[in-house]
Amino acid sequence: MRFSNLSVRHLSVKFKDRTGFLIRRRAFAAVRDIGFDIEANQTFCLLGESGSGKTTLAWSILGLHPFQGGRIVYNGRTIKKPNDAVHQQLRSNAQMVFQNPAASLDPYFSLYRSIAEPLIAKGVEKTARADRVRELALQTGLSIDLLGRRPSEVSGGQNQRACIARALSTRPAFLILDEPLTALDAIAQQKLVDLLCRIKEKFQLTYFLITHDMALAKEIATVVAVMYLGTIVETAPAPDFFANPCHPYAKALLSSALKPGLWQGRRIILQGEIPSPQAPPSGCGFHPRCPWKMAVCEKIPPGEFEVGQGHRVVCHLVAENAGKAS
Ligand code: SF4
Repeated sequence: MRFSNLSVRHLSVKFKDRTGFLIRRRAFAAVRDIGFDIEANQTFCLLGESGSGKTTLAWSILGLHPFQGGRIVYNGRTIKKPNDAVHQQLRSNAQMVFQNPAASLDPYFSLYRSIAEPLIAKGVEKTARADRVRELALQTGLSIDLLGRRPSEVSGGQNQRACIARALSTRPAFLILDEPLTALDAIAQQKLVDLLCRIKEKFQLTYFLITHDMALAKEIATVVAVMYLGTIVETAPAPDFFANPCHPYAKALLSSALKPGLWQGRRIILQGEIPSPQAPPSGCGFHPRCPWKMAVCEKIPPGEFEVGQGHRVVCHLVAENAGKAS
């Protein structure tokens, strides 16, 4: 099935507070009022530190975690509740590739068996299955000789190729790539980037890429969204974002990347850790760490401000500076 677009509006995902015994458990929002659009053949890149809610958001899109508020519209049809018929259509057209390839493959299965698993589940008969696994191995650059080996007997890059082959086995149009390069060395990373670009082109795939790797985002993203403490604080076409990052958190992320060509200004070192979503700060959630915090930031949550076409930022300072400039 074709992937045309995915729209997310005001999405909220809550968890129950698991601390305390015999105390009424409070719900808290891990994802709050999120909105974005993904069009066919884009690479939509979600940037942010660990703990910002990126993976929770991806799981909710796929129906692996329920969402409590807002809506998801897939190919023009609204998912009215988690796991309804439209959600199942989305899920059957999507696959996910995870961060740690060795952990996402069964250690007792050969790579062949792991790649074949979705085909077995679909009832594909043995000969057709064997042909398809070999075809997938060739498409992902995995040597046929390695198919009989277990994950512990091959490299991280080869395991990730097997994961990508498994993800492609059902011919999805939409891939969620959750930190796909994090566990790999630099050479394996570059080879995987080449592979991801090649298969995207060949199979007309749409990517939802979750990463904290700015260099990877710059290389392959078409649209960037920056997530902090469960909300999106900046969204922009990738060239605009890398030419003119506006939100203080986005600037800090770029300045910390320490890769040439990503950041020209002085290094911005953030103090402290990302706060717990169970006790989010008042006003702007980033204010305890923001080097440009103003009095209003502690009291009033900032609204979204458009700084260019498709370039939106949630920050009092950006809105104030734009007001002064106009
Ligand atoms: Fe910093 Fe204030 Fe902007 Fe938040 S709203 S990012 S605290 S300047």
